[in-house]
Amino acid sequence: MNILLLGSGGREHALAWKLAQSPLLGSLHAAPGNPGIAAHAVCHALDAADHAAVVAFCTEHAIDLVVIGPEAPLVDGLADTLRAARVPVFGPSRAAAALEGSKGFTKDLCARAGIPTAAYVRCTTLAEASAALAGFTLPVVIKADGLAAGKGVVIATTAAEATAALETMFDGGFGAAGAEVVIEAFLTGEEASLFALTDGTAVVALGSAQDHKRVGEGDTGPNTGGMGAYSPARVLTPELEARVMAEIILPTVRVMADAGTPYSGVLYAGLMLTPTGPQLIEYNARFGDPETQVLMPRIEGDLLPLLFATATGTLADAPHPRLSHDCALTVVLAADGYPGTPARGGTITGLDGAAMTGATVFHAGTARSEDDRLIAVGGRVLAVTATGRTVTAARDKAYAAVDAIDFPTGFCRRDIGWREAAREAA
Ligand code: ATP
Repeated sequence: MNILLLGSGGREHALAWKLAQSPLLGSLHAAPGNPGIAAHAVCHALDAADHAAVVAFCTEHAIDLVVIGPEAPLVDGLADTLRAARVPVFGPSRAAAALEGSKGFTKDLCARAGIPTAAYVRCTTLAEASAALAGFTLPVVIKADGLAAGKGVVIATTAAEATAALETMFDGGFGAAGAEVVIEAFLTGEEASLFALTDGTAVVALGSAQDHKRVGEGDTGPNTGGMGAYSPARVLTPELEARVMAEIILPTVRVMADAGTPYSGVLYAGLMLTPTGPQLIEYNARFGDPETQVLMPRIEGDLLPLLFATATGTLADAPHPRLSHDCALTVVLAADGYPGTPARGGTITGLDGAAMTGATVFHAGTARSEDDRLIAVGGRVLAVTATGRTVTAARDKAYAAVDAIDFPTGFCRRDIGWREAAREAA
């Protein structure tokens, strides 16, 4: 089977690494890919925004399955174009990707289906939003409706902060994403993510994870795309996971199908485990980054048939995914300055030494310089993943690998997995 994988991050490297192990794989193509992905796939300078070019590529290379990594091509309708051209694609339609692309859309769906989530109001003007604020206690959560790369959420602890956030959003501070705003009640609890595969009808759980979004140790400082993650999220006990499937994921899939916009792909639920039970914070319409870097090493057996069955509506007949009892943990190495403007061009060495520790180094923002050095060209540069019987064991192995890497213009958090490691030590 020939596969085209779209994307260039650590998530896509983890997917390429796993797909490359499949005995069913013919050729693996990636666009644009990165130097890590290039070890498993032929990388092409194909622009995912040029839908006609993607379809032509699929014909030329006899592609049997397109796997879309990031959210932007999904919200842009690339999966619709490919389906219309009869190319199997792993990833939801534009209409179904609204579960990630519009927070208001998802909140309305939850309200209709009785899915547990924070109380909310959708607003399209500053006047309307300012009036709606009065109905919430502090802290209050203010969200730009559309995609804002994880930056469109403000947790305001004072009324002045809430008003300032609303003003920024309605002033175009988040572009079109902030033309509409969702105001939400603040939920308390521990956060966890659950991943599920669905072809629109059949649904299977694919494992859980917890990530560290803040740049600083102790989960402090500005939000990032994610500085590390581990899997499984043991706080999401089997009982809680069953509740999330029954109360959140399955009703969502049903409502999407009933509306004539079936959701096909991976559904990634961001959850708050509140004292009264799990509540949905958000959906993502694709695999998480860096969660994929801890999920892929835990999936036993072949990923390819699962993705193909999801894409072709035959998930009910596919073998259920099996997850290893081992834990996986990933540490993100970011370039200095991230999540602000990252330092570009810093040299990275020592990856062979890191691999000798038994860890896997996934590339994100890396490139080869003209003189063939591996250099940093993005905010998040590498994700170093290790597995072990416990999160603590996986963590120790991952940091041993991190310490073998020489990346003077980069940094990482030294406390990834701290919450779980503390529980394991107790
Ligand atoms: P990302 O892309 O980083 O996942 P996002 O922009 O899609 O983020 P959300 O996931 O909805 O936005 O919110 C980001 C973070 O804000 C959450 O992970 C959570 O920590 C916090 N948050 C969001 N909504 C709430 C809420 N109602 N109560 C408490 N915290 C919240």
